[in-house]
Amino acid sequence: MAFEGLADRLQNTIQKIRGKGKVSESDVKEMMREVRLALLEADVNFKVVKDFIKKVSERAVGQEVMKSLTPGQQVIKVVKEELTNLMGGEQSQIAVSKRPPTIIMMVGLQGAGKTTTTGKLANLLRKKYNRNPLLVAADIYRPAAIKQLETLGKQLNMPVFSLGDQVSPIEIAKQAIEKAKEDHNDYVLIDTAGRLHIDGELMQELKEIKELSNPDEIFLVVDSMTGQDAVNVADSFNEQLGITGVVLTKLDGDTRGGAALSIRAVTEKPIKFVGMGEKLDALEAFHPERMASRILGMGDMLSLIEKAQANVDEEKAKELEQKLRTMNFTFDDFLDQLGQVRKMGPLDELLKMMPGANKIKGMGNLQIDEKQISHVEAIIQSMTKQEKINPEIMNASRKKRIAKGSGTSVQEVNRLLKQFEDMKKMMKQMTGMQKGKRKGFKFP
Ligand code: GDP
Repeated sequence: MAFEGLADRLQNTIQKIRGKGKVSESDVKEMMREVRLALLEADVNFKVVKDFIKKVSERAVGQEVMKSLTPGQQVIKVVKEELTNLMGGEQSQIAVSKRPPTIIMMVGLQGAGKTTTTGKLANLLRKKYNRNPLLVAADIYRPAAIKQLETLGKQLNMPVFSLGDQVSPIEIAKQAIEKAKEDHNDYVLIDTAGRLHIDGELMQELKEIKELSNPDEIFLVVDSMTGQDAVNVADSFNEQLGITGVVLTKLDGDTRGGAALSIRAVTEKPIKFVGMGEKLDALEAFHPERMASRILGMGDMLSLIEKAQANVDEEKAKELEQKLRTMNFTFDDFLDQLGQVRKMGPLDELLKMMPGANKIKGMGNLQIDEKQISHVEAIIQSMTKQEKINPEIMNASRKKRIAKGSGTSVQEVNRLLKQFEDMKKMMKQMTGMQKGKRKGFKFP
């Protein structure tokens, strides 16, 4: 998970100050020393750390904190705000040209994830903004890049413009834009050539494509796992080409987070999207405030809710609520729920978005065993219809049959039955509680 090391250290540090009724300058100094170390260890740019500490320290010993009734909480608030500012403050938007098509140049070094991200971005544009992009294969140097984009296009069922690898990328871009106008594609995503290192030839070519296509956005794709190298690459591309935003890939595997925290401050260009996995739907808009919240262990309920809205079938949710209220909840519903939750992504990632989740003992290094969940599914699938509706009829021979059928053990079957009973009991209490409160209930 992204930022794990940094999150752990920062949370331990702020925990010490949280409840304090009085915060002295030396408390703040002590805390800042630890925050500084945590950031440096996360591979955040040295100068960025220095500026950050200075800003937070100034505010933390100022009036707004010292005079408040909850100085401990106020210091944490300042850290959160400055962390948010560091990553760019507001979430930045993606450009829309007044005269379509909107042209986006995707640039970056080989292996950063540029081609994959081009596919992911096209997918997001269609899914979230209802757009109709044309993908352009202009990376004629990396063997297989054209093929890769064509494959992505097929998977997404989207058009890919290519002229093979013998035509110059500038010519490819030119013809692609003409084609997009003819076919009424409202976005053109140009997957430009990468190299192993930044060199003059590459920059020259990119500049020519830029001049010719007059792009609305130039997104630099960098691999967050390369830490400060990614920051240097971003700085260099920005200086030579002028970028409009950064896409940070492989954040799913980046436990340190140094690039994410430094890029904005060094380049003054926003992180627009982050790649959270290899699949085509694993690209997310970057929200500085939510990310700061996540790093400080305050959870990211907004992202969690959005994930739920995108994946959970509303009709089913209503039906379920009804069943819960009337206590008609069966193992079939349980299975259904499990399926819906799993669609939202790996469970341990979801749990980490919940506020305070990492404060639950052992949660920090919790690895939810997806295999165990498959066992639960197998057990339920091995039950008869009657058993699913009426688990009370379950006797020893039925349990044995189910264990055998699901490739599990009687103990596991017993455990699930007990959990199901406990859950029903809990729901009974909860629905009872809700009924009493119903009138004044307001979603936060
Ligand atoms: P390019 O040379 O920059 O076009 O790189 P590719 O698009 O071919 O990506 C290089 C590798 O990184 C591929 O194996 C991708 O699946 C992988 N990759 C790209 N983005 C992500 C991401 O956000 N997370 C993870 N885990 N892998 C990614």
